[in-house]
Amino acid sequence: MGDGIDRETLDMTLTAIRDFAAAHLPAARLLELDARDEFPEAVVRGMCGDELGIQLIFVPEEFEGLGGGAFDVYRVCEEMARIDLGVATGVLATFLGSDPIVFGGTEEQKRRWLTRIAREGLLMAYGATEPDAGSDLGALRTTATPVRDNGTVVGYKLSGNKQWISNGAVADLYSVLALAPGGPTWFVVDRGTPGLAFGKPEDKHGIRASNTAAVSLDNVFVEADRLVGEIEGQGLVQAQLVFGFTRLMVAAFGLGAGWAALDRAIPYSTTRIQAGGPLSTKQGYTHKLIVPHAVRLEAARSYIEETAERIDRGEGTLNTEGAIAKYLASEAGNLAADAAIQALGGYGYTREYLVEKIKRDARITTIYEGTSEIMELTIARDRWQVHLKTQGRHYLDAAATMTSLHARRPEVGAAIVATVLRGVAALLETARTNRLTRHQHVLFKLGEILTWAESAASFALRAARAVEGGLHEKGDRRFAPEVLAAMSRVFAREAASKLLSEGMRAVGGTLGEGDIGGLEAQLGTSALHAAQAGRVGDMDRVADALYDRGKA
Ligand SMILES: Cc1cc2nc3c(=O)[nH]c(=O)nc-3n(C[C@H](O)[C@H](O)[C@H](O)COP(=O)(O)OP(=O)(O)OC[C@H]3O[C@@H](n4cnc5c(N)ncnc54)[C@H](O)[C@@H]3O)c2cc1C
Repeated sequence: MGDGIDRETLDMTLTAIRDFAAAHLPAARLLELDARDEFPEAVVRGMCGDELGIQLIFVPEEFEGLGGGAFDVYRVCEEMARIDLGVATGVLATFLGSDPIVFGGTEEQKRRWLTRIAREGLLMAYGATEPDAGSDLGALRTTATPVRDNGTVVGYKLSGNKQWISNGAVADLYSVLALAPGGPTWFVVDRGTPGLAFGKPEDKHGIRASNTAAVSLDNVFVEADRLVGEIEGQGLVQAQLVFGFTRLMVAAFGLGAGWAALDRAIPYSTTRIQAGGPLSTKQGYTHKLIVPHAVRLEAARSYIEETAERIDRGEGTLNTEGAIAKYLASEAGNLAADAAIQALGGYGYTREYLVEKIKRDARITTIYEGTSEIMELTIARDRWQVHLKTQGRHYLDAAATMTSLHARRPEVGAAIVATVLRGVAALLETARTNRLTRHQHVLFKLGEILTWAESAASFALRAARAVEGGLHEKGDRRFAPEVLAAMSRVFAREAASKLLSEGMRAVGGTLGEGDIGGLEAQLGTSALHAAQAGRVGDMDRVADALYDRGKA
């Protein structure tokens, strides 16, 4: 990845997406697609073709695309998700489907297919999941049997079943993961190849404007040059190479869907009068249904932006960071959409106000591209190794960075984050000395706590950069620096609460009664409690900013 496209081009793209959606996908049309369970193929093809050209963002320049980076893709994904997560899934399945080629293909394969995606706007599908291989892709059963001519492999016959494939029934080109003699391998298959068939569209809870279908392969012959990278057995490695990137895309989906819901609840609450005044003036309402969700979504944005920037700087695949971003953003998006239904009361529960659809749509983000539980496991396992390798220094060093940040920028909540990170280091040490990671429940909870702690650090850094005028030039600028600082303080306190409650419940839950006092002391319980001071005032400030009350 490189720097991607320039800011003006990105801004023009985001505006063009909004204009296209306003013309082709007004709210009434979206509700109709949802009710009819209909994939708007012409609209999606328009978006991925001459009319809008979204596909150009992710095709490298040498193959006639614009060569967008991870940051650009995040911004585009968020914008698409704000419109409709089903349509976004239809568009973005091509990103996903072409990723094995982008990251694992030979130069010739990239030229062959990426150029066609750029020019012709081909729709792709990504065929990894199978009926018995979901989270555990290693259990896949689809086979790729070599076909030989005079001893030379000239092609493969693919046989098996793929499940839940986005664009499964409408794609022009399929990436299919199959078990070759050398191990799991990606193949590129054209629509219409004999033996390739698809099932009827799944009748889904949400993202009903996307096409999801089973894909079956019955002795589908592909030439040997359809093997991505032309070496068998690289499939899972190639899938791993793109996870940081693709999870970031789904993270942006969660972010976009969450904000789409809140941005309906916020104006609604300024006009809905109850008990003598608008709901937006009721602190019990805003501080439960609006403010915590806005804060959590912006914490997720901080982690997404930081990770995207690092991927674009060439810091590697950043799979764990992608997992943290996806986990927090998708969970935050779901909670925000659920709260938006509540915020609209009975109206929220009806279809007309759209938040009900957004809630159903957002639900997918905690499932596809790796479930939240798999994210917890991935995050915990990786950071556990880091903790062991650094002999417990990793989170203590991160805490020291936050202490320095606090000295420079006391307003961004970094002192609270430092307290949290020291507590995290102590929690991991308790887990190590008591061999607690043998409990999967503890491991998952560690994944959750670490996500909140690392995101709080990321948020404090972003707030500091905003105060200092150093945000990424393509970063979101909806909130003023002092509002981001208040939000960062609120989220830091949420991370402190998370460590206290979930750390005590999970790790404490494995200890004997006599050991709880020791754990409390190690976590720095009283400092974590003390961190809550000032929380309500900060939430008031965030509410004022969200409602443009000019007091923040
Ligand atoms: C609408 C939709 C679109 C999709 N699009 C695509 C696509 O385009 N391409 C594609 O390849 N796939 C796609 N998928 C598949 C998706 O990625 C999988 O559904 C997902 O990875 C989970 O796999 P699974 O459904 O088999 O659930 P399972 O893996 O069976 O998981 C079921 C539950 O068990 C939990 N679990 C799983 N393993 C463990 C474990 N080791 N320990 C503890 N808990 C565990 C999970 O978190 C989950 O809560 C799509 C799915 C949907 C619903």
